[in-house]
Amino acid sequence: MVIVQKYGGTSVANVERIRAVAERVSKTAKQGNKVVVVVSAMSGETDKLIGLANQISPNPGEREMDLLLSSGERVTSALTAMAVESLGHKALAFTGRQMGIITDAVHTKARIEKITGERARKALDEGYVIVVAGFQGITEKDDVTTLGRGGSDLSAVAIASALDADLCEIYTDVDGVYTTDPNIVPEAKKLEKISYEEMLELASLGAKVLQTRSVEFAMKYNVPVVVRSSFNDNPGTLVTKEDKEMEKVVVSGVAYDKNQAKITVMGVPDTPGIAARLFRGIADSSIIVDMIVQNISSDGNATDISFTVPKTDSKKTLKLTEGIAGELKAKGVNLREDTAKISVVGVGMRTHSGVASQMFDTLAKHGINIMMISTSEIKVSCVIESKYTELAVRVLHEAFGLSS
Ligand code: ADP
Ligand code: ASP
Ligand code: MG
Repeated sequence: MVIVQKYGGTSVANVERIRAVAERVSKTAKQGNKVVVVVSAMSGETDKLIGLANQISPNPGEREMDLLLSSGERVTSALTAMAVESLGHKALAFTGRQMGIITDAVHTKARIEKITGERARKALDEGYVIVVAGFQGITEKDDVTTLGRGGSDLSAVAIASALDADLCEIYTDVDGVYTTDPNIVPEAKKLEKISYEEMLELASLGAKVLQTRSVEFAMKYNVPVVVRSSFNDNPGTLVTKEDKEMEKVVVSGVAYDKNQAKITVMGVPDTPGIAARLFRGIADSSIIVDMIVQNISSDGNATDISFTVPKTDSKKTLKLTEGIAGELKAKGVNLREDTAKISVVGVGMRTHSGVASQMFDTLAKHGINIMMISTSEIKVSCVIESKYTELAVRVLHEAFGLSS
């Protein structure tokens, strides 16, 4: 079998952990598998590098930022390859470029366009263990890019797809995907399996156990993904196609996202083309807008438009929006960063009603005010004040019967 194993930051946090990773890789290789390892930077390293850049400049150039950030994964890939070699295997460490990971040129959140991977294929056939630096690629013009925070998950899934791997294992610091973040709700239950769709919702709604794009990619190319712990041998969670069993469960998970800021454009003239102008301007800057709410104002001639963006983009979005608001003759723009999004997810919602009202009831009972609501076929999300995040997650987890 060809197996891709991705190890996150805590799994390669120090020399001891890297040795443990090498042991697991060695065991997998000795069972007769071809192993491709994908590693993250040591935990905290990426944040540290971002901090350094921000000390140098309030607005560091994105091209240089990517070169800087990609260095964390270079370190761990080389060290991991050395550790695997010291256990008697042949091993080769590759950067994203050496792996042939070609991306677009949207620095700090590039998309993978293709993976050539010829050198890796040849090396695997020659009996090498390959260790790839996650989170990075290269543009056609030879600039280093990174794939967005948590992007090593995407590196792993995309490499698994390109090499036609039989399995993509994501090793992290929890035993699998839980009904909610086990670090917030200790009663959370581990799921034996979860559908791509539910996992995609959970991830995009804030469950950082898998990066959203990695799930999107796995779903599109049918890559079998298992999430498990690098600290023990417990069976993990299989992320796979939906089956009949899964539909019986109405809510399968609760997610939270504290990285959402809310921007409101007040008193926008109520005429065609206004929303188009506003959101085109934001989209052109590669900023991802999540929830959008538009309200007719009481006098009927103007509306308020509220939307959410990642907090990391909030200052940039505010500036952009103020510019556009001026053009549109809006009354003003305001930014709130003390917000969080709480969501419940489940494919069973397609066939069960009442989930939204139960969610609103539960939040109301605990005095938590709802600022924005959005729903889809398999999720309900509410924006609330961020200080209530943990409380909301706990009471919703309980209310939907997810606690063990
Ligand atoms: P890594 O560094 O290995 O990529 P991450 O920190 O990115 O690990 O993701 C693992 C973390 O995801 C866990 O420690 C946990 O706090 C968090 N998490 C959030 N929601 C969930 C969930 N539903 N199931 C499991 N873990 C979750
Ligand atoms: N090191 C990168 C990050 O912290 C990528 C990853 O860990 O997946 O976001
Ligand atoms: Mg991660």
